[in-house]
Amino acid sequence: MKCEKIQGLLKTDFLDGELDKKLKSYIQNHIDSCDSCKTLWANLYQKTVAPFKNLKEIKPPESVWSRIEKETLAGAKEPFSLLDWLKDKLPPLFYFPKPAYAFAAMVLICFMTYFLYFKPSANKRQEANEYLLDQASFIQELETENYSFGVDSSSDNYL
Ligand SMILES: [Zn+2]
Repeated sequence: MKCEKIQGLLKTDFLDGELDKKLKSYIQNHIDSCDSCKTLWANLYQKTVAPFKNLKEIKPPESVWSRIEKETLAGAKEPFSLLDWLKDKLPPLFYFPKPAYAFAAMVLICFMTYFLYFKPSANKRQEANEYLLDQASFIQELETENYSFGVDSSSDNYL
């Protein structure tokens, strides 16, 4: 491993104690044998680790903890939301996995395409109009016949 990479690790994970045992001992061995990295580590340690090494643990007074607890709980309270309440109570109703959304969108697009391009309702409306026009002309014919019949019915023969 190059010094550049090792020095990057010294400033980050090695300093934080986040490395696994194997890498940690590899870097430790490198530090012992490399002056440049040894100097960097000595500086880092002196400036970032050593000042905090001998600090005493201070326990804050109970009143501080209770105030933190109180304000944390107060901040955690959210206004009541019916939707959130329902989500909590009925999670299966509100849970749609993403593929379900995709499928629903696809079905919707298919239906919209079908209705936009084939317009079955428009065809049916046209059929209905033609049917109504047929019926209207048929009724008109009937009325015409009735009219002539009506003329006859005004005669005494009809009664
Ligand atoms: Zn080195």
